[in-house]
This record gives sequence, structure tokens and C-alpha cells, in this order.
Amino acid sequence: MHALASDLKLCGRPAGRVLEEIERFHGFPAPGVVIGAFMVDWAQEVIGPRVEADAIVETLRCLPDAVQLFTPCTLGNGWMKVLDWDRFALTLYDRATRRGYRVWLDAGKTAAHPAIHDWFLKRVPKDALPLEILLGRILEARRAVLSCRSVIVTDFLRRPKKDSIAICPGCGEAFDPRAGDCCKGCLRGGYFKLDSA
Ligand code: ZN
Repeated sequence: MHALASDLKLCGRPAGRVLEEIERFHGFPAPGVVIGAFMVDWAQEVIGPRVEADAIVETLRCLPDAVQLFTPCTLGNGWMKVLDWDRFALTLYDRATRRGYRVWLDAGKTAAHPAIHDWFLKRVPKDALPLEILLGRILEARRAVLSCRSVIVTDFLRRPKKDSIAICPGCGEAFDPRAGDCCKGCLRGGYFKLDSA
């Protein structure tokens, strides 16, 4: 465990455990997921413990894993929406009031933290910035590289629901008939061919 992490609590657990959980889930303690833990921690703190928050994440990279690890929101349960917008930002919000907090990695603030800035803006090759060094800087910087604003969510509120099921005439498998007359796989031609071996 990183020495700097010993006194720190994140998302309700010691930072050392956060790093271990990230390593187990994500494969290694990825800087983006560690920063994501600080982001979730901040959003959870301001939204308060009594709100069962849903999440919207604005990038496919790293950040969804932080939300899935440290909140009850997952892609599978539909409480987390993931937008392919490539912005390193997330929002936790109260479904009932639509009020919440958006936290983002702020490029203006990372400028004062060169290692994080270089990693964030991909200014240096990966092997020029050892993971241990970068993680140390992230654990030092904590929320200093983040920004947080209160927001009211206006879109992406709908949780996915399966209202009806049909059997696809193309493949014979069950699908959501809102997709059309046959399933999306048959519509667009699928992603595999059968291996006859
Ligand atoms: Zn089909």
C-alpha cells in the first residue's frame, strides 16, 4: 500500500483498501479509477448519506469502474448511465428531485500538478511516468485537481425497462420489439460467424 494512503479515507473505507479493490476489479490500480474514487467520494459527501443516488458518467474509460466499485450503481442494474463523451466527469443525483453534483477532473487545476497534468493530457509516454509516482501525486493532490458543481439533471433519467419481449424471426432469440421487426443483431449483421471446427 502507498505510504501516503495510510491516513486517508475514501468512499467510506481506508484508501489502502480502495487501491486493493481497484486492483482486483480493474486489473491494476489505474490512475483514472483512483482519481474516480476521489470524485465519487466528493459527490457522495455533498449529496449526503440519505440520498440513494443514480449516476451519470461521461466517459467509457476508467470512471465507470469507480462508480461500480464505490456506489450501488452499476451498468447492469441501470442506476448508472455511461455516455461516450470522453469527458472525465461524473454526476451523482437524487432520482426524486433530479438534484445532484457533477465532479470533474479539471484541466485548469491539474496544471499545478505536473505529473497528473501530463498523464491527463497525454503529454508524456506511459513509461516516462512510473505508475507508483503518478499514484503518489494523485494521493497527494486529492480533491485539488477536481471541481464540483451542483446540477439539476435534465436528460438520461430513464432507467432501462423491459416492457415486452418478442422472438426474432431471424435468429429465434428473445429481443425487445422496440428495436424493430427483428433483433439488432440480425438488423446490423452481428459481430461473429459460426466456427465450424
Ligand atoms: Zn435475430
